[in-house]
Amino acid sequence: MVSLKPNAILLKNQAACAQCDGHVILKPKQVAGIGTQVQEFFSKLFNTNDWPPRWHCGNWTDFHGWLYIVSDLLIWASYFAIPLLLLQIVLKRKNIPFTKIFWLFIAFILLCGLTHFLDAVIFWWPAYRLSALLRFVTGIVSVVTVAGLYKNLPLINNLRTIAELEVEIEERKKAEQEACNQQLLQQHTKELMQKKDEFMSIASHELKTPITSVKASLQVVKRLVSTNKSLAPVSPFVEKASNQVNRLTGIINELLDVTKIQAGKLELAETEFLLNDLINECIESCLIDNQKHQVVVAGNKKISIYADRNRIEQVICNLLTNDVKYSPANPQIIILVEGLENQRAKVSVTDQGIGIPEDKIEEVFDRFFRVENTSQSFSGLGLGLYISSEIIKRHQGKIGVCSKLGEGSTFWFTI
Ligand code: ADP
Repeated sequence: MVSLKPNAILLKNQAACAQCDGHVILKPKQVAGIGTQVQEFFSKLFNTNDWPPRWHCGNWTDFHGWLYIVSDLLIWASYFAIPLLLLQIVLKRKNIPFTKIFWLFIAFILLCGLTHFLDAVIFWWPAYRLSALLRFVTGIVSVVTVAGLYKNLPLINNLRTIAELEVEIEERKKAEQEACNQQLLQQHTKELMQKKDEFMSIASHELKTPITSVKASLQVVKRLVSTNKSLAPVSPFVEKASNQVNRLTGIINELLDVTKIQAGKLELAETEFLLNDLINECIESCLIDNQKHQVVVAGNKKISIYADRNRIEQVICNLLTNDVKYSPANPQIIILVEGLENQRAKVSVTDQGIGIPEDKIEEVFDRFFRVENTSQSFSGLGLGLYISSEIIKRHQGKIGVCSKLGEGSTFWFTI
């Protein structure tokens, strides 16, 4: 084998060393101050005169020396290739996370590789000062890399794996599809509702004319019956027909109101009036044929408010007729009137009727909503509370309900 080991000739600097069986022992140096040492270190950074090449320092066999050198060069080559690959990743993928850590790793691995390279070179070129400086820089970069890694550890730990990301993408796709379907469904429902509103508007307008005519004719008949005694047996039938026509008028008016609300055409004619007077009128008109239920009005009787009298009457009458309708067994109804700040008032109407199940309370003000089971035995369209809530909202007021199934309900509004 051809030996690349330099011949065992004494180099220039070895004049200062004593050689002992191949071991080079440095002569003790004169101790200088630290400042002088640093200055000398940097000024002689590439100067190799103070040491023999590593081949001459110790007793290396060819095999041992080359094993050391080849291993160091292999490590250096790999440590050089890894940063190149990392560099390619960093430059190619602009939005890569933790770019700083990548750069630190590139520097750290490159420097580590260089220390190994220099370790191999030192077998011929004993640049121990350069080697020390390189190791120091490597040490500093290593510490900074450790600190950077430690700082980013929680974030790195939170990074999702490709499998996790794939699951997330799949879930997102599903959610998007569902949202899309939901949107289509909503659009479809909206169109259907629009068609229904159009139909309701046309139907209620068309019904209103003949009903008005029937109402007028019934009034003429009523007058005839009251003036002609021979027609007295017909009177109850005329009364019944008149009541049913009134009910029909009420239903048509509700449908018309809904179409007005939907079209944003619910207009208000506001005036100032005494709330108590209006409540008394409502009680009179709503309970005209009702001997069973009793209404007690409590609270402040002198509150006057500024609102659309007819529309507020509609709200109070709706609450009262509901109380009567949904409290067949308990006749007591209480209306409480309270004054609020800024000339506002709160009206609460309490009954001891069938009450509303807790999970349905939120929905009672929705259009066409009726509580199943309980309200099946009572007639209605499920529009009264919807219209009332829209009227109160137009007055910038609030409407709500407290209710317990089987115990009764308190509907209230502020205005
Ligand atoms: P309608 O009475 O014509 O069905 P409403 O809009 O006035 O329509 O009321 C909606 C639903 O709220 C009713 O169907 C009924 O289930 C419930 N509800 C309203 N008022 C009361 C009440 N005082 N007690 C119990 N349930 C009520």
